[in-house]
Amino acid sequence: MKKEDCIFCKIANGEIPSATIFEDRDFRVMLDIGPATRGHVLILTKEHYDNIYEIDAETAGKLFSLASVIARAMKKVLNCDGMNILQNNGTVAGQTVFHFHLHLIPRYEGDQVQVTWPQGSITEEEKEELVKSMKKEI
Ligand code: 5GP
Ligand code: ZN
Repeated sequence: MKKEDCIFCKIANGEIPSATIFEDRDFRVMLDIGPATRGHVLILTKEHYDNIYEIDAETAGKLFSLASVIARAMKKVLNCDGMNILQNNGTVAGQTVFHFHLHLIPRYEGDQVQVTWPQGSITEEEKEELVKSMKKEI
């Protein structure tokens, strides 16, 4: 379902023009308007989902198949040194547009992108408790 006042619904469904490199029934693949690096691409669902929690398994599966195709094409064209595939959920995680999208961010030696973190730690008790509670929900 399209959501009124959602800019990515309008872009995904062609109401607002975009720098589209691919589209099919389910997805639109376009250049990010404020690229982290040269060739930063977004894959948008055509349906409106706020985030990963709402997307169905079939669409999620198709999305990652498509992501691998797009990533290979980008690597070939951009000759990037690496790539981050990123998807933000919630403001705290950096989500600013609340319509599901996947980032494909080409990485180049010496670029200023920051998507790494200082390594944390976990106790045996915490590990046990988390494994138990997560397993139950899957
Ligand atoms: P988020 O922060 O939600 O993970 O990512 C939103 C992304 O959408 C940002 O990288 C931003 O540059 C991009 N963006 C926001 N508005 C537009 C737009 O109108 N067109 C395009 N192509 N990208 C947009
Ligand atoms: Zn939307």
